[in-house]
Amino acid sequence: MSKTAEYLERFMNGVRRRNPGEREFHQAVSEVAGTIFPYIADKPVYHQLQILERMAEPDRVIMFRVPWTDDRGNIRNQRGCRVQFNNSIGPYKGGLRFHPTVTLSVFKFLGFEQTFKNSLTGLPMGGAKGGADFNPKGKTDNEVMRFCQSFMTELRRHIGEDIDVPAGDIGVGAREIGYLFGQYKRIENRFVGILTGKGMEFGGSKIRTEATGYGTVYFMECMLERKSQSIESKTVCISGSGNVATYAVEKVNHLGGKVVTLSDSSGFVHDPEGIDAAKLEYIIDLKQVRRGRIKEFADEYNSATFHEGRPWSVPCDIALPCATQNEINQEEAATLIENGCLGVSEGANMPTELGGVEVFQNAKILYAPSKAANAGGVAVSGLEMSQNSARISWSEEELQELLRDTMRGIHDRCVEYGEQKDHVDYLAGANIAGFIKVADAMLAFGHT
Ligand code: NAP
Repeated sequence: MSKTAEYLERFMNGVRRRNPGEREFHQAVSEVAGTIFPYIADKPVYHQLQILERMAEPDRVIMFRVPWTDDRGNIRNQRGCRVQFNNSIGPYKGGLRFHPTVTLSVFKFLGFEQTFKNSLTGLPMGGAKGGADFNPKGKTDNEVMRFCQSFMTELRRHIGEDIDVPAGDIGVGAREIGYLFGQYKRIENRFVGILTGKGMEFGGSKIRTEATGYGTVYFMECMLERKSQSIESKTVCISGSGNVATYAVEKVNHLGGKVVTLSDSSGFVHDPEGIDAAKLEYIIDLKQVRRGRIKEFADEYNSATFHEGRPWSVPCDIALPCATQNEINQEEAATLIENGCLGVSEGANMPTELGGVEVFQNAKILYAPSKAANAGGVAVSGLEMSQNSARISWSEEELQELLRDTMRGIHDRCVEYGEQKDHVDYLAGANIAGFIKVADAMLAFGHT
């Protein structure tokens, strides 16, 4: 066993021992460490100062009770959490997720990933993540409002425009951000940018809603351009039907591609004729307004069929996983390759299991890991913070250009650190480029 492999094994054993049972967190750290250890093999300062060991430990974890009352008057109790992972290069920044399946492991993996992602954007933002095991599905607006108010009543102590600025994620969209911001303002009597993803009437930024989905497609466009190809006429499989998926469809359509699948947690729809602008309108109304199930799309359109499971058996040129973590396993990755898929750009966070990542890497397809491919959302969030601080509002055109430039900048940094003889290893490139800035800031701070 090489010295690097030995260090890596010892490091991962330590991570597993200190964080027992945290499967998603181990997965995220292992994916990063596998590319960072070879990079720092000849850079002893990072070893001596235990930089990666320190980066794999959150600055702090805050857990709290969130009591609320449902419409029948029952007292309910949820668990809230904020993992403030690393603020070496700027205030903590990262979304809030409301979903019944969240665990400390999920928040830690997301916060760890966020630290690298935010560094990649080039903006001064640290990494964090949080949320609660609250399920907004099936709840009335009043119930969601009461939950959000209770959640913010505690969270407000731990956030601030220069401390920690949360945003949305799964289960936290425009409605939830409005309730959360309203409660903060009411308790603190301060109108400041302590959340991003806000409504346009109260300090939000143009194109924040669209930025993650658009950015994921822009990243794919950059990778294809390097190969003298484009999205035009490509068949695209997308998973999810929430915020990220919706705007990924819009951008693929805009660039002349054809999206043939969308999904939710109940299954997926396959529409060989493509999900055009009119069908996308239907999806937005179905998922965001009526909060229904994806099957209804197949009931509405004869060209579409509904299937249980995930969409990766549908042949495509490009796959954009935009639902949730670990939604492409090793077998599904192999099926995508067998069916001729030439590129994957991850809109969701860590949607591919380690075995699947290995399949993509070995096949040398264009594989963009989430921390690079979906950074467009947090990048525009960073711009929302700047607009809030300066009390100005940039135009849509300015922001569209900034988003495109940011995605191109991230792409180019991945190429800089991931270029190999016949291929770009975007995974290594993203990890190393994200690591350097945070690690060097930590070196500058000494043994803190
Ligand atoms: P969202 O609007 O809440 O949509 C989530 C979508 O994923 C829904 O279609 C949901 O289906 C589906 N989904 C959730 N859990 C699932 C599961 N266990 N199995 C299958 N499908 C599942 O959330 P979003 O903002 O689009 O986020 C999607 C992904 O992008 C997440 O990984 C998030 O961390 C990542 N991301 C989001 C942003 C952002 O700006 N929003 C930025 C960076 C990364 P149901 O309707 O059935 O629940």
